[in-house]
Amino acid sequence: MADGMGGHAGGALASALALQVLLARVGAGGLTEAVHDANRAVWERAATDPEAVGMGTTVCAMTFAGGARPSAEVANVGDSRAFLYRGGILEQITVDHSLVAELERSGALTAEQARRHPHRNVITRALGLAAEVEVDRFQLEVEEGDRYLLCSDGLTNAVEPSDVVDHLREEADPQAAAGSLVQLANAAGGRDNVTVVIVDVTTLR
Ligand code: CA
Repeated sequence: MADGMGGHAGGALASALALQVLLARVGAGGLTEAVHDANRAVWERAATDPEAVGMGTTVCAMTFAGGARPSAEVANVGDSRAFLYRGGILEQITVDHSLVAELERSGALTAEQARRHPHRNVITRALGLAAEVEVDRFQLEVEEGDRYLLCSDGLTNAVEPSDVVDHLREEADPQAAAGSLVQLANAAGGRDNVTVVIVDVTTLR
């Protein structure tokens, strides 16, 4: 998933272009390389298209691999998030690249202060802002019953973590769970758009 930013149509263009390149390249050179390719595509478009100046996008992407030890890989740039919901506990896999997250990690802000901070939308890393970008990569062992949640900050800024957990626990169908989380974020009055992707690991083989 990708959460675009930039005036006019820039944000929508950046996120759509990033996902298009990501999908086209992920099979060839792997997830991280595909994210680098997506970054270069957004950067080149922003440099050459006057309508697209200054555009950028987050990306939070996940792939799964089967075999004797099923695994997943997450690549992240920006403040979208990947979570693992396992055994009733919701754990954030990714690290936010945002000003408030850096202040929180340094101890200057509590988690609650960070979540309500007026500058919480300032991100410190995104695709399309430079020719090269640093991509965080996470390798996970996958278990049957795992539920993975990928979302934009439109969800995490608007909905309490305990409410996210309640919905993940109570709604068995992944599409319905994603839909109800989006509804919850919109009902909370968030001005931001919201993207939620849920992946359930039902059978390993
Ligand atoms: Ca957003």
